[in-house]
Amino acid sequence: MIETGGKSQIPEGLTLQGEAFAKLNLSLDILGRREDGYHDLCMVMHSVTLADQVTLKQTGETGVRVETNLHFLPNDEKNLAARAAAAYGEATGRGAEGLRIQIQKQIPVCAGMAGGSSDAAAVLRLLNRQNPTPLSVTELAKVGEKVGSDVPYCVLGGTALAEGRGERLTPLPPLPPCWFVLCKPPFPISTPELFGRVNCHKLRCRPDTEGLLRALEDGDLEGIARRMYNVFEDVLPPRQAAAIQRIKTSLIGSGALGAVMSGSGPTVFGLFEAEEAAQKALGNLKREYKDVFLVKSAPLV
Ligand code: ATP
Repeated sequence: MIETGGKSQIPEGLTLQGEAFAKLNLSLDILGRREDGYHDLCMVMHSVTLADQVTLKQTGETGVRVETNLHFLPNDEKNLAARAAAAYGEATGRGAEGLRIQIQKQIPVCAGMAGGSSDAAAVLRLLNRQNPTPLSVTELAKVGEKVGSDVPYCVLGGTALAEGRGERLTPLPPLPPCWFVLCKPPFPISTPELFGRVNCHKLRCRPDTEGLLRALEDGDLEGIARRMYNVFEDVLPPRQAAAIQRIKTSLIGSGALGAVMSGSGPTVFGLFEAEEAAQKALGNLKREYKDVFLVKSAPLV
């Protein structure tokens, strides 16, 4: 049973709703392994309009309950959304007892798009909005850190540099108007396994993060696309590497300015300047894959 930290302060019957946007990695670099076993990362993150819908309701029931449209997702404290509610209660004294969290998932699960972390961040934001003395964004991100490494970024949203385990955040300028085509192939990639492979292989190439930051400052979409790079792609097992490469080739063939795997995959996305080319890429990939999306940059949360 999850520790709820006492009764929630949301009036019974009140419903709160918000969107939990997917994140993409424009770049992902691994700087080294730390003594605590984690890796030091350097990532440029960006939120897009593919989103889960998160609804909070106050009931007279006990505990915190999560309901989702995906039967295989946990509905107890293993769900990051429930953990976020409990962490908020612990940090503010405004408990989560009686809270029901409904999540309509659109973001594919285990896809490298931080779906669970984004749901957790949406819960934090919704609870904070109800608080007469709300936490600052920095404080809210700090609460999110207890729930997961990607949660602080998801609290902030937009475009940001994430360093350390992902908790050291620097907001960055938005991207110029553009389109993203996302494609998740139907096989899982194990994040721990990938980190293990990073420890054994020497990384041959690294992203030009400095150049990417400059391109963002300049609003140079081609420069951004040219510098999108994820070091995990370098250490993928051969069959998965080939599958990822096929999607990238398809995106580039349809006119993407650049294409890269997000996070620890397997989602691959292409960046497009023109909607027409993005629509073409969408059509081409839909013939072969189920999870294909055409999205834009998300509004700031
Ligand atoms: P990341 O990009 O942060 O590595 P991901 O996109 O690869 O994350 P998620 O979909 O966020 O992966 O979640 C993966 C795991 O988290 C699954 O094992 C799932 O059971 C668990 N999980 C807990 N809560 C949620 C949630 N609200 N939505 C999705 N997965 C959740």
